[in-house]
Amino acid sequence: MNYKSTRDNSISVTSAKAIAQGLSAEGGLFVPESIPQLTKDEIMTLCEKSYPERAFDIFRKYLSDFSDDEIKYCVNGAYSDKNFDSENISEISHLMPGTYILELWHGPTCAFKDMALQILPYLLTVSAKKVIDGKEIAILVATSGDTGKAALEGFKDVPGTSITVFYPEDGVSDMQKRQMTTQEGSNVNVCAVKGNFDDCQNGVKAIFTDEKVKSELEKLGMTFSSANSINWGRLSPQIVYYISAYASLVKSGDIEYGEKVNIVVPTGNFGNILAAYYAKEMGLPVNKLICASNANNVLTDFINTGIYDRNRRFYTTISPSMDILISSNLERLLHHLTGGDDKQIAEWFGKLSKDGRYEVTPEVKAKIGELFYAGCCDDEATKGAIKQAFDEYSYLMDTHTGVAYKVYNDYKAATGDTTKTIIASTANPYKFGKAVYEAVGGETEGLDEFTIIEKLEEKTGTEIPAPLAATRTKQVRFTGSVEKSGMPKVVLDFLGSR
Ligand SMILES: *Cc1c(COP(=O)(O)O)cnc(C)c1O
Repeated sequence: MNYKSTRDNSISVTSAKAIAQGLSAEGGLFVPESIPQLTKDEIMTLCEKSYPERAFDIFRKYLSDFSDDEIKYCVNGAYSDKNFDSENISEISHLMPGTYILELWHGPTCAFKDMALQILPYLLTVSAKKVIDGKEIAILVATSGDTGKAALEGFKDVPGTSITVFYPEDGVSDMQKRQMTTQEGSNVNVCAVKGNFDDCQNGVKAIFTDEKVKSELEKLGMTFSSANSINWGRLSPQIVYYISAYASLVKSGDIEYGEKVNIVVPTGNFGNILAAYYAKEMGLPVNKLICASNANNVLTDFINTGIYDRNRRFYTTISPSMDILISSNLERLLHHLTGGDDKQIAEWFGKLSKDGRYEVTPEVKAKIGELFYAGCCDDEATKGAIKQAFDEYSYLMDTHTGVAYKVYNDYKAATGDTTKTIIASTANPYKFGKAVYEAVGGETEGLDEFTIIEKLEEKTGTEIPAPLAATRTKQVRFTGSVEKSGMPKVVLDFLGSR
């Protein structure tokens, strides 16, 4: 199977090329030419398989230019209990009958980004051998917090790669900052940017297409790639866990095969929920995809009105990994919903970068309305949802999952829908300890991050995950901070010194 660019149908590349390159040259995203199908029998056979075996079966459909051995090397390397605290890789908790929390944060950085970023270095180095032999891959990442750390853990000391991460100086939690600035490894670089996540992301995009930087890179024998969810190698692993969760629920007898489920996803860049859309289009029995946003509710408005308008106030919230006004992966959805109309996509996204706004056709809006429900909530409502889940079900969730849970409750109240539902839980609560502790009634005034999480542990009887506890004693290695305009120099200085 080949991959097309969303903005130019004449471009068609193998999966290895799509993954190695990250973004198409004219700025489009790579999408599969057709969405492969999963039969009932195939889903049933997954029930008896392990997570890496399930991942193998699904990747085979997307990575047709990889050999079986190559795919096995990737899935077995990434999804083992060496990297994850559970051999199931992701866990399912039961909040109440018919409401399942899909915990995607059992990896080394305690956020769902690990599900993709543990395997991306494998996918990328195998791809690079096929299509850009000999060149070192320089990974650039813009992060709203969790991607950066997960990418650093995935790529640290991987031969033939280096990684530079930019994060918004005041846009991440204390724990997220600490996790990144204490990162170990000989091929890693971390720098703060005076701006928000969109500044970081636009800065990275500008470096990718900067001719001067590119020619410097050629001289160094390196090539750029991306670990952001614009890369197909980031997105495809996320399809796996929705299908895997369904298989697990069939196996445990919680659902019958064929029974539809809702999937609720706390969303920023539209990556994680897009993976759920692919799972549905592959044939997974899904009813509604429920898109949950925080106060940065550009997606809620888009899904409800068909107008995408980023010209609005930017909020810094307690769910910082969703503080995003440009949801890149929406471009892939619109590609599929327009039947691959590259000119239309190029026009809309041209308007987005020029005016910050575009409006889809009534047909596309109607299709979106059939597939999705969208809702949002502010910080106070998020904290209220965390408290309610803890008080009623003794389940402690993080702030992003709190947004999803609140929006799901609103959805149920608005629709009366009693379909069984999977809520994607995207981070361990201790990653956002301050807000979570406040949500369950704790006082944080004047306390440092580590005191807070110890108090959270005492109050809730839950446990600080080992990787987060370990950051306490680690040395801070990266203290740099630049304006957006200084980002290219940070990259070139680092790569030049390698
Ligand atoms: C990245 C992230 C999200 C948002 O995921 P998208 O793919 O950008 O929609 C939600 N929650 C957490 C904890 C994250 O790290």
